Amino acid sequence: MKAGTRVRKNSEDMIDLRSDTVTRPTAAMRKAMAAAEVGDDVYGEDPTVNRLEQLAASMLGTEAAIFAPSGTQTNLLALLSHCARGDEYIVGQSAHTYRFEGGGAAVLGSIQPQPLDFERDGTLHLDKVKAAIKPDDVHFARTRLLCLENTQGGLALPIDYLGKARAFTQTHHLKLHLDGARIFNAAVKLQVPVTSISRHFDSISVCLSKGLGAPVGSLLCASKVVIQSARRWRKVLGGGMRQAGILAAAGIYALENNIKRLAEDHDNAALLARELETIDELNIDYAAAQTNMVFMESAEGVSERLRSYLKENGFIINNGPRVRLVTHLDVSRDDILRTAAAIKNFFK
Ligand SMILES: *Cc1c(COP(=O)(O)O)cnc(C)c1O
Repeated sequence: MKAGTRVRKNSEDMIDLRSDTVTRPTAAMRKAMAAAEVGDDVYGEDPTVNRLEQLAASMLGTEAAIFAPSGTQTNLLALLSHCARGDEYIVGQSAHTYRFEGGGAAVLGSIQPQPLDFERDGTLHLDKVKAAIKPDDVHFARTRLLCLENTQGGLALPIDYLGKARAFTQTHHLKLHLDGARIFNAAVKLQVPVTSISRHFDSISVCLSKGLGAPVGSLLCASKVVIQSARRWRKVLGGGMRQAGILAAAGIYALENNIKRLAEDHDNAALLARELETIDELNIDYAAAQTNMVFMESAEGVSERLRSYLKENGFIINNGPRVRLVTHLDVSRDDILRTAAAIKNFFK
């Protein structure tokens, strides 16, 4: 077989651009998982989970961290720890916490969301946030927290904005939470230490199961007080796991080995955008602050035909008029060139 060619016999051989959650643990990561020393983490006795939590806290520059099964849960742990029944948090209209987590903060915490539209650069305009803060009056919910997302739609938020958001929340006595599912993509993109992002926040949720390549798991990083509360809520939510060191070992491996290489994913996304921009029938969105996502828009009715054509040819993408193509650990530069070639072929 020629170098770079692949025979695609089953779904594992498909080039899957739907999300960076589709990555599979490598042999080296599985080896680390198999060798993990374990104990009962609900008793605080899993040495590998403890090591992961300490590693994450030291990397993000927080006092403590907690390991949980998903980013949905670490975001919820933060909201439940910062806010009480009848409190409100301000959040992006299309933010993951508001839109894609089943309304968990409202369902389980009686926390009212106040969604606002994101700006084009993925920030929330602080004047608009200010206007949304409720007066201290019995008619209103108590505004307690501002939640940002970084990356937002793949965009790395400007560092100077984070400083302004921190000062703003201090002035207005709000807590500041970051849904940093892809915080390392942002740090790698901006070529800054991750702490220059994380230091502005009261809590940060980080996903290990996106571009970092772990099969399961997220971390909430914050002060000892917040993490102590989160630990209680994690048990309430059914997220107390036992010999979770098997999973934590994958997380440690991901943090130690898979951060720097995120730059390859960003390069691959930029390459894909450049290739697709040559196709007249497509509208391609890849902003300067973009990391590992390319947004591809096509005419009504075209996207479904394109999706099934690609599926037959070994490529998986989401459906819709505006499709998000995501690069990750399991997609090589060669795969990107093949994807671009297949899309060009479709339009020929
Ligand atoms: C994936 C993701 C999460 C968490 O998702 P889980 O699937 O619950 O781990 C949170 N926020 C953003 C922005 C995400 O992309």
